[in-house]
Amino acid sequence: MSDKNQLSLFEYSQPEQKELIPTSSQIPIPAETYDNLTELKQHCQQCYRCELGNTRQNAVIFRGNPQALIMIVGEAPGQNEDETGLPFVGRAGQLLDKILASVQLDPEQDVYICNVNNCRPPGNRTPTPGEIAACKPYLLEQIRLVNPKIILLTGATAVKGVIGDKRGITKIRGTWMEWEGRLCMPIFHPSYLLRNPSREKGSPKWLMWQDIQAVRAKFDGIRNQ
Ligand code: SF4
Repeated sequence: MSDKNQLSLFEYSQPEQKELIPTSSQIPIPAETYDNLTELKQHCQQCYRCELGNTRQNAVIFRGNPQALIMIVGEAPGQNEDETGLPFVGRAGQLLDKILASVQLDPEQDVYICNVNNCRPPGNRTPTPGEIAACKPYLLEQIRLVNPKIILLTGATAVKGVIGDKRGITKIRGTWMEWEGRLCMPIFHPSYLLRNPSREKGSPKWLMWQDIQAVRAKFDGIRNQ
């Protein structure tokens, strides 16, 4: 075999790579940039569109079922989430799983859980409007790929970040809203329930119980259509 032929054995064609996502949050990420969640996840690990990329250990994208009818959107990862790369795995996440289980919703099968921001804000502060805007294309792409029929928005930041409604969460929780052809319901963030443990009628926990039952009923209605 000639040297040339031997060398050709070492040639291989580079798999086609998508352009890296622009690091500036001023440059948009168009819809349909990603074919699947794996690509999106890989890009987020290399993303510095906002300052949160500089301090994260892991970009945190989702847990649960990418084909679920219900998407649950939180605010941003905390310490446990940053360390594990999974959303809602600390105390608030454990409570969320219990809330779902109380109406026989399986956190692994029936829901897809993600956040408005994929990287942890230092000291668990609320993400800034600029950080939320920088990360929003990733959330919109997840919504497109997962295609949930129901979106639960946990807490005011998730409500503002997704549908732009700035009203207080206590005013709008439990209300069905239509957004982009999907049913959305603002609900309390589980960490708020941890700080308000009363189960008295009218308490946040009691209200959450009403809301999650309404979600279960809507889920059954959609599933049986
Ligand atoms: S929070 Fe979102 S936009 Fe900001 S660096 Fe992380 S993945 Fe990128």
